[in-house]
Amino acid sequence: MNNWIPYELHTHTNHSDGKHTFYELALSAKKIGLGGFAMTDHNTISTFKYINDVSNSLDISIVRGLEWTTFWGHILLVGIKEYVEWTDITLENFNKKLLDARGKSELLGVAHPFRLGGAIATGCYCEYEIDDWDIIDYIEVWSGMLPSEKYMNKRAFALWTDLLNKGHRISAVSGRDWHKSTEYDKYIAATYLNIDGYNTPDNAIKAIKAGEIVVGFGYVIFAKLNYEDKEYNIGSIISKSNEISAEIKLNINKSGIKDVGKINRENLIIKIYSNLGELISYKTNKDLCSIIIEDIRDITWVRSELYEVSEVERLISFTNPIYFN
Ligand SMILES: [Zn+2]
Ligand SMILES: [Zn+2]
Repeated sequence: MNNWIPYELHTHTNHSDGKHTFYELALSAKKIGLGGFAMTDHNTISTFKYINDVSNSLDISIVRGLEWTTFWGHILLVGIKEYVEWTDITLENFNKKLLDARGKSELLGVAHPFRLGGAIATGCYCEYEIDDWDIIDYIEVWSGMLPSEKYMNKRAFALWTDLLNKGHRISAVSGRDWHKSTEYDKYIAATYLNIDGYNTPDNAIKAIKAGEIVVGFGYVIFAKLNYEDKEYNIGSIISKSNEISAEIKLNINKSGIKDVGKINRENLIIKIYSNLGELISYKTNKDLCSIIIEDIRDITWVRSELYEVSEVERLISFTNPIYFN
């Protein structure tokens, strides 16, 4: 049975520059309603020896990861068994190092590609030229809290859309880049993973690999697609037949995360977006709805987006794509 579980995929502890101890981080994760998180300290895996104990005592899934933190950009290695060397990375050998890392890490993600580094946090902005986007599993298109308001995240989201339009099947996630918890934390987004079976790190990795990912804060939009009497999940690749119409079934849920800020349910708008641009924009107060795409012949990918519209239009949730061959 499948089950959408909220994860946080980018975290730090006092083993690198975070303010939490590892246990405090895990406890905060549990308290705000996460089912799991990826432990991704900068260039160190020294928390790993505590993972089993912390995970068991708090009943939370913890995926082993590492944030390669270099002068020219940050890469998330998620699903590693051991330390992966980063100190010899240069602008010149970066793509080769990325390929090597592919063999050592289940997942590779580009962290906050457009964040400008300060005097201390050098290298947040990704300056690497990535030769082959197909070896990257995901882009962190949302970084931090209230993510869709940030200009750097708008650029990252646009980069993702552009890569999808070029034919890459690459996923998008949110990452809080969580260094500390305060009482002012608000608009916390999570990455929801469609976990098949028990909520384990391995099953979380499987869901990310399959692109079965939804991102959101406040309210979260889930989708399935019906085509030729078959139902497909987010992340699916569908072979087109003579049938030219498809039906998207949407389900809007309140986020399971605490501290998601104030969002007015009355002001939500659904958009269906594809390689052809926006297909449909639709205001609804219903949690369940069905939308027909009348002609899929030129569509290579489609995703569902949820906006809150008041004075400004703010993206609050989006699915990863369903693809067509
Ligand atoms: Zn970083
Ligand atoms: Zn980080």
